[in-house]
Amino acid sequence: MGVALRSGALAQNRSTFPVRETILPVMLLGIDIGGTKTSVCIGDRDGRIAAARRISTRADDGPARTLARAADLTGQLLQEHGVPLASVDAVGLSVPGPVSVPRGLMLAPPNMPGWIDVPVAAFFRERLKRPLYMNNDANACVLAEFLFGEFKGAPDLVYLTMSTGLGGGIMANGRLVQGATDTAGEVGHHVLDIHGPPCPCGQRGCWELYCGGRNVARRIQERLARDTAPSRLRTLAGDRPDQLDFKMFVEAVREDDPLAREMWDEYVERLAQGIGTVIMFLNPRAIVLGTIAIHAGDLILPALARALPRYAWAPGLQSCAIRPSALGKHIGDLSALALAILGPDAGA
Ligand SMILES: [Zn+2]
Repeated sequence: MGVALRSGALAQNRSTFPVRETILPVMLLGIDIGGTKTSVCIGDRDGRIAAARRISTRADDGPARTLARAADLTGQLLQEHGVPLASVDAVGLSVPGPVSVPRGLMLAPPNMPGWIDVPVAAFFRERLKRPLYMNNDANACVLAEFLFGEFKGAPDLVYLTMSTGLGGGIMANGRLVQGATDTAGEVGHHVLDIHGPPCPCGQRGCWELYCGGRNVARRIQERLARDTAPSRLRTLAGDRPDQLDFKMFVEAVREDDPLAREMWDEYVERLAQGIGTVIMFLNPRAIVLGTIAIHAGDLILPALARALPRYAWAPGLQSCAIRPSALGKHIGDLSALALAILGPDAGA
């Protein structure tokens, strides 16, 4: 993929538009299947989203029922907006990694147990009968940033999902880095500590164990279970400590709760350790951060800046902008559209 590809309007300038009143030169469909939410949208090459619908993924129902629900949602969206399937030029499909792009498979996403070697591309090609391009969500996100984000067109760009899990998408020298078997960018399973806790992937001390949203919440829950000291975290969780989530963690840190602060310092240190490695390996122009940073960037970024010099050299650090995604809540839809826009150029 060259850097001269057409880039879209910035998120803040994007407006929605009624499909029927607009003649889209190229009509695209985006399908974003996440561990928690599934979203489908109709859009164009400029990243304008004409219509979108979202449902809970409910991956526990298994691939057959879950994918059928997503396909039904797609059909409903097209019907509601009077868009015949035949007028859809291309479909972008973003799914949790790891994936095999040539085989069109979801291999074994850690947050979707039981989803082993699911032929997700074939399923949607059969249902939609349109050209379809799939990739993992983090790769799709870095392409969306490349086309529409704050650093659009930057040839050396990294996206870190920072949501339930921790995935990475890498652009280097203007190309998406896919790797020999499509696992380039799976930075969440870079080992930070070989003596660390066991990871479902089979290794120990993976980055995602320390910084993935779900794992951070679990670590806090475990700490509260064995530490009886009073903490704002306990109050926020109420009588359901198992419901304690990252948002409550951030709230307790903002209120300067000592236990939350201590765990926050550890979180930021591990985040810096991982991001420092990314900077040393890739020397990116920018690292764009997803969900957690979009909501708590004001807390994360200054602390990260203080910690990073322990993990990366000054030239790489000074030339790398680290920012929450400016695409905000549109990132999921735009990432699926980006796959449809770039098609085979997306590295697939
Ligand atoms: Zn792991």
